[in-house]
Amino acid sequence: MLIATYALSTGSERTTALVKTVILPREGERHLHGNASFTSAYVLRASVEAQALGHGLILLHSHPHSAGWQRLSDMDRNTESEYERVARTITKTPLVGMTLGGADEAWSARFWFDRTAPSWAESVRTVSAKLKVTWNDQLRGIPAVTRSQQRTVSSWGESTQKSIARLRILVVGAGSVGLDVAQRLAATGIEEIGVMDYDAVEIVNLDRMIGATRLDAALGRAKVDVAARLMKSAATARRFRVSTHEVSITDPAGVSMALDYDVIFSCVDRPWPRAVLNEIAYSDLIPVIDGGIALDTFRDGRMRNGIWRAHTLVPGRPCMACLGQLVLGDVALDKNGLLDDPEYIAGANREAPSRQNVAALSSSVSAALLAQFVSLTAHPGGRGVSAPLRYLLSTHTLEHSAAPSGPYCPYENALAVGDARTPIAEQREDWRAIVRQRSTKKATLRLRGLAAIEGILTRAIGRLK
Ligand SMILES: [Zn+2]
Repeated sequence: MLIATYALSTGSERTTALVKTVILPREGERHLHGNASFTSAYVLRASVEAQALGHGLILLHSHPHSAGWQRLSDMDRNTESEYERVARTITKTPLVGMTLGGADEAWSARFWFDRTAPSWAESVRTVSAKLKVTWNDQLRGIPAVTRSQQRTVSSWGESTQKSIARLRILVVGAGSVGLDVAQRLAATGIEEIGVMDYDAVEIVNLDRMIGATRLDAALGRAKVDVAARLMKSAATARRFRVSTHEVSITDPAGVSMALDYDVIFSCVDRPWPRAVLNEIAYSDLIPVIDGGIALDTFRDGRMRNGIWRAHTLVPGRPCMACLGQLVLGDVALDKNGLLDDPEYIAGANREAPSRQNVAALSSSVSAALLAQFVSLTAHPGGRGVSAPLRYLLSTHTLEHSAAPSGPYCPYENALAVGDARTPIAEQREDWRAIVRQRSTKKATLRLRGLAAIEGILTRAIGRLK
């Protein structure tokens, strides 16, 4: 048994307690005879220390021989409910109780909002190069394996499938890469996927957004709606839920929605949104899988090289800034709109933010990101995500980056600070205006007719067994 502190990470629907600091018992603060138990001296001192740090209090104990999500014995219940009031009064936050099942290292957790009964958590996530999740089956039922998933399940086993399928996954940016990633996650059997993007499909996107149609572009449909349609047709889960977020991740509203997810795919190329995701990965312990492509041409326009990268941001692995994939100076430029200002771009003798991508190579990027996801969640060979990867097209070489985790990195050092994170997001009108404008735009009668027919067909096909 042990006491630790936690910081809160508050999403729009979910609240997470991030385990922060362990407070070890001093001599005489723990009874070791008979049933180990917390002493009130230990709980009191730890509460005061937690309060000084601005944290909440967690009582942890183990059931050495049990496996899976642990419930409370009568004695556990009495202990936690007895100390609930002390912890809440001193720290001003609810007590958290956690139990470790010693046989398989599964954690369970509950909040104590009052002393009568705990509110059980839905899952406990352990985040490192390997993401490990213990699910509370009563709150998040075990997903049924469907007929269309048979080949997936035979590849990595039913227990991996049950664990992966329940993850809430967010894809930020529904462009060429994001759209592909989202569909393949749906086909894998993930039950809950969110897509976040405030842009609409335009005719210039059609060479890369595979699955988007001329009708989508003509109607100026939201990219998230197109992604949702394609995901629904690819989904293999019995209960599939897609959430569309027409917001910007650079807005506090977008950040709070992102905090509801277990894994985030970063499929955006601009510095500001990438900086926000880079922060969340460490401050809120949500693994962010990021990557991108850069194409290099000679002066005469011939291709010199193409480089695509994939890396997962988790504690112990370098962040985008340390990897050189995010230039912090560019975040301010992006915020102030300078990266869209041709005069500034020309004057500063630099290139506009990379919008390059070709359809033939964008699936290489999405494939690299999805492989990171499989390593993170299914741990092939007992390993988690690799060091950051770089693929050089001209020589077809795969390089493992040696970039170390930055010892003085402000992002990586703000580990598990949760709601105390440095605010990078800002409330803005610009993206809201784009979304509003789209909703008031009226389509021609012909386009509306086509959309109606398309809707009828899609629904009819969806009902096929
Ligand atoms: Zn860093």
